[in-house]
Amino acid sequence: MLKDTNFPGMFFIFVCEPIVNLTMKRLIGLFLILCALQLPAQDLQHYKRVVKQLSSARYQGRGYARGGANKAGKYLQKEFQKAGADEVTLQPFTININTFPGRMALWADGKKLTPGVDFSMREYSPGVKGTFPVYHVDTLHFDPARILADLAKPENAGCLVCCDFFFSYKHKELFSKLQKAGKCPNAGLIQTWPSPIKFYKAYGEKVVDKPIIWATPEAIEGVRTLRADIDNVFLHDCEIFNVIAKVEGARHDSCYVFTAHYDHLGNLGRKVYYAGANDNASGTATIVTLAAHYARHRPPFDMYFIAFSGEDANLRGSEFYATHPTVPLEQIKYLFNIDMIGDNNPVQYCECSDEGLHGYALFEKINGEKQYFKALSRGALAANSDHYPFASRHVPCIFLMNEEGDAFPYYHTIFDNWKTAVFDSYEPVFRLVTDFVDHY
Ligand SMILES: [Zn+2]
Repeated sequence: MLKDTNFPGMFFIFVCEPIVNLTMKRLIGLFLILCALQLPAQDLQHYKRVVKQLSSARYQGRGYARGGANKAGKYLQKEFQKAGADEVTLQPFTININTFPGRMALWADGKKLTPGVDFSMREYSPGVKGTFPVYHVDTLHFDPARILADLAKPENAGCLVCCDFFFSYKHKELFSKLQKAGKCPNAGLIQTWPSPIKFYKAYGEKVVDKPIIWATPEAIEGVRTLRADIDNVFLHDCEIFNVIAKVEGARHDSCYVFTAHYDHLGNLGRKVYYAGANDNASGTATIVTLAAHYARHRPPFDMYFIAFSGEDANLRGSEFYATHPTVPLEQIKYLFNIDMIGDNNPVQYCECSDEGLHGYALFEKINGEKQYFKALSRGALAANSDHYPFASRHVPCIFLMNEEGDAFPYYHTIFDNWKTAVFDSYEPVFRLVTDFVDHY
């Protein structure tokens, strides 16, 4: 609408010299106001800037061992201040977490493998050093008794047992034995996972007895000997923090809350880091631009923007906040958790708490009228992101994640980075939630 507005003062510039400067100033002023009102383009650039920054090498995948997460948190504190938030506070908490910031080298029959491409580590694995025979499990003629007998043979002493991840998950009874010290003489496990190899951190609050390496089938197939030089570092009481920004509205007795986690998987060795452009620089950048939007257009209620840490380590930041809220949870009119919207699926995935379901009808109505997405698709509530600690405490909330588009195959891989980032879902999500606040 504003794009096509003509400037009626233009003619006078050419008529009268003394009023040129004044008119120009007015025009420039008007132009700047019009630019500020062109929200989508303006915010998309802001959004991209924050995504690019958060997924840069400076933050080393926003993990814990090298302080990348906290560095990103400090950057966000400044970004929220620049966005015009009235108050930005840091909420510290501690976690115990297993990390891999040091040596990370593997040789398969003498051939050096690439971390993050050929292999990764199970999050609760200890480090591993030495040269090991590899025992490949025969999954076609699977016989646990024969495998245990084989592993007792001298030629298999201290071997790494290699098997498909899903197969070993299905036969937990045998494989959990192979993970524990004193139960079986194997040195550890290799679990195969199809390329691109993933890395998880959710259960890294402990370390098991024996190493567990994840490798692609191509990297490990037929390999007889594996040499490993891998360090882990277990961090006790590692201090990290949530970043809480507030934009004051007209009323303070209720509020809206926008959440997104800014931590990610950190390092896999010294050189490799998980940039996490989609997971979740995308959601974090979205709430920064939402804070900027509401600072410019003062809302009817207070607005909170919470960037959580510790999400990829099992929702630790949101769980901490929910047990130490800075605003009573009962005052939250609605909470929007945005995690991984750096994708281009025309169908937007959502989850709601029971108390958030009446709001879901409004989301459907808005989307039906405006066609921000082809459709919304609601799945069952799960403990898969930061909305869950709030949903389980009866806060009306929605979780927005755009999955199964072009970026989704890179989920939790080193390829989720600035180069593969997709920006399609940002504006529709931005519009959907701001329209919701207008009509709720
Ligand atoms: Zn994640």
